[in-house]
Amino acid sequence: MTEVGEQRAFHSLISLRDSVSSIFSHLFYRKPINMAKYIFVTGGVTSSLGKGIFAASLAKLLQGRGYRVTIQKFDPYINVDPGTLNPYEHGECYVTEDGAETDLDLGHYERFLNVPTSQANNVTTGRVYQYVINKEREGAYLGKTVQVIPHITDEIKRRMLLLGQTGEFDIVITEIGGTVGDIEAQPYVETVRQIIWELGHSNVLVCHLTLIPYLKSAKELKTKPTQHSVKELQSYGLQPDILVCRTEHDLSEDLKRKLALFCNVDSDSVIQASDMETIYDVPLELQKENLDKTVLRKLQLPVEGEANLDKWKSFLTRLKAPTSEVRIGLVGKYIELQDAYKSIFESFIHAGVANNCKVEVECIHSEDIDETNAAEYLGHLDGLLVAPGFGSRGIEGKINAIKYVRENNIPFLGICLGMQMAVIEWGRNVLGFKDAHSTEMDPTCQHAVIAMMEEQKKIVNKGGTMRLGAYQCEIKSGTKAFEIYGKNSISERHRHRYEFNNQYMKDYEKSGMLASGINPENNLVEIVEIPSHPWFVGVQFHPELKSTVENPHPLFIGLVKASMERKRNPVQRKMQEA
Ligand code: GLN
Repeated sequence: MTEVGEQRAFHSLISLRDSVSSIFSHLFYRKPINMAKYIFVTGGVTSSLGKGIFAASLAKLLQGRGYRVTIQKFDPYINVDPGTLNPYEHGECYVTEDGAETDLDLGHYERFLNVPTSQANNVTTGRVYQYVINKEREGAYLGKTVQVIPHITDEIKRRMLLLGQTGEFDIVITEIGGTVGDIEAQPYVETVRQIIWELGHSNVLVCHLTLIPYLKSAKELKTKPTQHSVKELQSYGLQPDILVCRTEHDLSEDLKRKLALFCNVDSDSVIQASDMETIYDVPLELQKENLDKTVLRKLQLPVEGEANLDKWKSFLTRLKAPTSEVRIGLVGKYIELQDAYKSIFESFIHAGVANNCKVEVECIHSEDIDETNAAEYLGHLDGLLVAPGFGSRGIEGKINAIKYVRENNIPFLGICLGMQMAVIEWGRNVLGFKDAHSTEMDPTCQHAVIAMMEEQKKIVNKGGTMRLGAYQCEIKSGTKAFEIYGKNSISERHRHRYEFNNQYMKDYEKSGMLASGINPENNLVEIVEIPSHPWFVGVQFHPELKSTVENPHPLFIGLVKASMERKRNPVQRKMQEA
């Protein structure tokens, strides 16, 4: 079904549900029809306070008590989704199983909870308006003036409550992007106010994340910015229930009391959220502050006992006591901005823990590597990952890097564009196709070893039109890929338009690059490898999107393991250096 078709079908269901629910709400004034409880997370004072990590950590604590929790993010920008945004603007674009291009915070949600998110978990102002405007064109509001209130806020409300009405979740945490006071966030804040009015305080909670700056000259923590941001929230009719204070120094009991008094929250509802060594410490820190107990009490849920975080704690223990270390290069063109490769960095952390090994990731700008200096940049590395990407900037550097690690037996993982560049490098330097290329960068090249997928050729729109989301892949037995995954059938997430050109399959396989993973439905190549190399794997999909604390990804585990092996084996290194 098309998106519009889906939305229509969905809308009919929602209208039906709304009619039933309105009868109920007439019968029982303000009685909740929702099974789930809702927690909203807003931010004040400044952006980048870590609302996503806070939401994921709170969710982890509640999950550890047996609740089924999901987290969603509402972003106040006009893009329909972040898929068309440059990573410099917005960091990595995270792709869900069902093919939504979403905010990178959804990656944190999945990594913490080990539960997949979906299209419904990320909503932007653009998507809300697109939906309402489409309905207006269909005549759904005939005769009415379509307005921010009630039409936009009703649509936001419908989407905010949606996951809680599926019966799949006990608690829905909603992170509101941006900072309170931003003009564009106002409809969201107003919608939360309405939801509280409709469902009541025992079913809805607002956690407000704020910054308590430390003034060095005065040697003092300052509460005024927080007071102002809470006042701002109150001016929209919203009272935070819990104040989460980001701070570099411990908050004294006096300061907490002062914050509680001036911000009108209970004294146990001022939660200290200190800067931690790793984001994975945050759930335990918040547990020490009794955040989960305060939340449960306010939502009138049982408070007894403690969250079971045994697996989480053992992950942390291993993270903090590695028995070895490897240095793996990450070649990409957005390395100035760590958020652009967020999931890759996190996957290395998970895979490092699985190997009791600290992975030192060395970022290398793809534009810096030329034919003469590859050894200088890469010679000391134990392994290499060439990152995904779009467009031609830096691709020759990626190709040079791949040539070096292929010839020097350094373990290599190429992801999406990284895999495509490995295919091009092999085409040029092993098969002798001097102009081997991808039609993305050179549409007229003779040897288009990477070419646009047939189904992509007729597409003109850029937004949401790539090959997106999870697809099946069959792995050939006896291959490196099989050794890594330990099974023949896998499913991985995608985000690309170009693919290995199957016309060249025979040339590649005869010369020693094997297509070890294939999509069973359309024969697209999903995995390539070089059997004569100790560990050389390129994947058309994005394994980094599926690595979680509980389920580190086998490809990353494999790369780290192979890198440890290479580091341990100085003979192999010497032979290559000779
Ligand atoms: N630009 C390439 C494509 O569209 C690779 C995309 C990616 O690395 N995600 O096929």
